[in-house]
Amino acid sequence: MTRIDHIIDGKRTSGSSASVAAVYNPATGDQVAEVAMGGAEEINSAVENAQTAFAEWSSTPPAKRARVMFKLRDILEARADEVARTISAEHGKTHDDALGEVTRALEVVEYACGIPEKLKGSFSRDVGPGIDSCDERQPLGVVAGITPFNFPAMVPLWMIPMALACGNTFVLKPSERDPSSANLVHDLFAEAGLPDGVLNVVHGGKVAVDALLDHPDVQAISFVGSTPVAEYIYSCGCAAGKRVQALGGAKNHMIILPDADIDQAADALMGAGFGSAGERCMAVSVAVPVGEETADRLVAKLAPQVHALKIGPSTDSEAEMGPVITRDAQERIEGLITAGESEGADVVVDGRGHKLQGYENGFWVGGTLLDRVTPEMSVYKQEIFGPVLSVLRAKSYDEAVGLINAHEYGNGTAIFTRDGDAARDFAAKIQVGMVGINVPIPVPVAYHSFGGWKRSIFGAHGIYGPEAVHFYTRLKTVTSRWPTGIRSGAEFNFPSMD
Ligand code: NAD
Repeated sequence: MTRIDHIIDGKRTSGSSASVAAVYNPATGDQVAEVAMGGAEEINSAVENAQTAFAEWSSTPPAKRARVMFKLRDILEARADEVARTISAEHGKTHDDALGEVTRALEVVEYACGIPEKLKGSFSRDVGPGIDSCDERQPLGVVAGITPFNFPAMVPLWMIPMALACGNTFVLKPSERDPSSANLVHDLFAEAGLPDGVLNVVHGGKVAVDALLDHPDVQAISFVGSTPVAEYIYSCGCAAGKRVQALGGAKNHMIILPDADIDQAADALMGAGFGSAGERCMAVSVAVPVGEETADRLVAKLAPQVHALKIGPSTDSEAEMGPVITRDAQERIEGLITAGESEGADVVVDGRGHKLQGYENGFWVGGTLLDRVTPEMSVYKQEIFGPVLSVLRAKSYDEAVGLINAHEYGNGTAIFTRDGDAARDFAAKIQVGMVGINVPIPVPVAYHSFGGWKRSIFGAHGIYGPEAVHFYTRLKTVTSRWPTGIRSGAEFNFPSMD
């Protein structure tokens, strides 16, 4: 049985905790590895090593830190296939989808290569008599990342390159469900020349997370995962005086106006709803056609495509989506479909009980299309995080916008239309952080930042891009007077330039 250990100060260690968790191949349902589940002792050791490494790493010139990112960029590109296979083996997503994950991660590394320019301070001469003022941004110290199962390489790489480029050292607590990608990410950094102790990986679950929250030397926490855990981490982390960004769950709606190209909208919904088996925080899980006629046309286009979805293991190059992550997830998703049906939704395509020859024990859920979903249904209120697309028919554009604005989540959304006025109005009024106009999955590129609104995020900063520079550094302003010989006597009034 393969064993996945922590990596502290550049060395693999099983730690002192005897606790382990099973890691599965979701396509077969077989256990493929066991992962060490760390506790306070492993976290303390990782933080201590990161703290020691901070002194030298934070005083390494930014251009030298950037050189590690340049090397990492080339390594990641050369070994993209291997990273993608590592992701798929434990997550189950198709190989091409995993390659897409690596590409988006690579873009964050490329952005981090420009860190000297981004950390450049500002200087003002003569802000007062003989007085100059300069701003600089300094790293925080040891920062931590806690990441979800659905992007086991990309989400750690949303955080680590920018945190390290800014001069911090890092402790990563990845998802225990697909932990191998995190160790591979560590090894690629090491190959790129990152000194030992700058990046540490501690595997585990809530016990390890609580140890990070309690540790006085952890200055900041970046979290990506479900909303209840995001809220918990945000409140505990802030109460402990840490800087926290906690990105949570989603329920992303796509409005289809009557003037939209319905074929284009249906294609977009297929990819955005069923890609990665719907296990993306930017997946579209609710289609909101405006008007009965638009809805009928849309459902007629979608139904045969959902029926025809090619479902298979990541090793099948024809597969359009793979299994879901665990048996629990499979049962939870099927339970929600049943709840939707009993609450009155039309099950147009039913993915429950999906079987694949040769993979009978895999965690499969077939593509599911629910029509005539209403806002009171649990299938609408909850994040399903599976291959289930709900159609909620709206009478008007205003009703559609009102629905989205009333939902507790505000991660991503899209509108499909040919009407520029409506699109512009939508972008202005919608209470959601990432908005697509005829773009179904509007994940910002690496030089913009990623983040939702409402209960899809806790904290003021989005992740990666310019927001990351602000999150992972603190501002210092130095006001200095030269020469020192100027003497004007004691000043008791509040200082001003006059
Ligand atoms: P999760 O919240 O179960 O787990 C995320 C991390 O938190 C893991 O490392 C896990 O070990 C840890 N964790 C789990 N339960 C905990 C607890 N009670 N206390 C402390 N730590 C705990 O999320 P998941 O199932 O791995 O990922 C899916 C979720 O992540 C979905 O809700 C999805 O929308 C969300 N997600 C959001 C974004 C975003 O950018 N907003 C991106 C990806 C995924």
